[in-house]
This record gives sequence, C-alpha cells and structure tokens, in this order.
Amino acid sequence: MLCLSAADIVRIWELGQDRHPLDRALLLLAFAFPEKTLTELASWSIGRRDAYLLTLRAITFGGKLNSFATCPQCQEKLEFSLNTRDILIIDPDRTISKDCYQFTTERLEIQFRLPNSLDLAAVMTAENETNASLQLAQRCLLQANLDGKAVSYQQLPATAIARLNKQLTEADSQAEILLDLTCPACDYLWQVLFDIVDFFWRELSIQAKRLLQEVHALAKVYGWQESQILGMSALRRQYYLDLAE
Ligand SMILES: [Zn+2]
Repeated sequence: MLCLSAADIVRIWELGQDRHPLDRALLLLAFAFPEKTLTELASWSIGRRDAYLLTLRAITFGGKLNSFATCPQCQEKLEFSLNTRDILIIDPDRTISKDCYQFTTERLEIQFRLPNSLDLAAVMTAENETNASLQLAQRCLLQANLDGKAVSYQQLPATAIARLNKQLTEADSQAEILLDLTCPACDYLWQVLFDIVDFFWRELSIQAKRLLQEVHALAKVYGWQESQILGMSALRRQYYLDLAE
C-alpha cells in the first residue's frame, strides 16, 4: 500500500469531484494499490475496503481523527477525537476474506457472501431502504437449502431474509462503525455512524485546496511548475512559503 503524495491528493480531488462516494472510495484505493485492477478493488467487502481506507488515512495524514457531532437532545456541538487504531477492527493484510459464510434458521441452511462495492452500487437505484436491503440479500445469497434440498431466494420466508440481512452486517463488522458519544452539557448518550469515506474525502478536499494555494503562492514568486512544487516535501514547501512572504 502506497501513501498518497501531494500530487495524488490534488489529482484524486480533481477526479472525484462529481463522483459518488462509492467511486471516491475506489479512487482512493486505486492510488494506494496501483498494481490492483478496479474489479479487484470493487470486489473487496465493504469492511475490507474501509479497513484499507482507515490504514491509508493513517499513513497519509496520521492516525488521529478529529470529528464533531451535534447532541440530538440539546444541540450542543461536541468535538471529539479518536485514533484509527480504535476503530480498526480487522487487519486487512492479515484477515483472510472468506468466500462463503453460513447460518441455519428454521430448517434452512443459508450460505452467503459479504456485500462489496459492486453490490452497493447495484442497489443504489432501489426506491427505498427496505427494497435496497432485499436486493442486497438476494445478491449476496449463494445457496439456500431447506431440509437439504435447494430452494430459491423467492421461496425464502421473510424471517429468513431478515436474518440474512442481519448476518450481512454482523459478519462484516468493520463496515459499520458506531461511536458511543456522551453530551458534556446534558449527559445524553447516543451513537453516531463513523463514515470513513465521507471523513477522508472532506479532509482530502481541504488538503487539495490548500496545496493548490501553496502552488499558486510559490509559482507566482519563483515561477516553478506545479509538478515541481507538489513534488517537494511539505517541510520544504513550507520553508519557501515562509521566505516568499
Ligand atoms: Zn446535550
């Protein structure tokens, strides 16, 4: 895995402007894993994808994540920080992805695989969340047997599909990171979903714009090219910026 260079950050930001978060996640990974194909990256489970995004974030910008939330009870703004270590449940380099998971319910034996980026992209057009979960369950179902005899997705009872949906989330624990928060003003306890794609993208956008401002300031004074300026270490760029003031 390669850490993102200054030039990568600007390029990713530029390419990802109008893209969906699912594609932005793959774009980030494509720069981190130039030897892998897009099909390969898209076939990683969402948990695996997110574990690599957290790792990429840590090696590019450091492990500390500063975030904020608004208390749903008293609207107090709460700032908090955590470390990528705290929410990295799997080590994506060591955790072997299983191709097949299984569980039994009501005489049914169900085999499934974990949802990946292609699955989430495919269910995006569903008219509501319920339909999206149903479509996801259908896509991830590999095999269902009732008393040892194969049955189709359409023959499964609603309870078995609900159970399958639950298993899809539980088996890929890295895909849904919930943070426990306590409001310092009113002691209200609640949970927020930590979305690494959204978090990383916001941060990358801020960083890309900052880098372009630095390019502008240095190019204006020294006449250097963008590639030369972005190719410098952050330390050297900062030193010249201080001199240029
Ligand atoms: Zn509160």
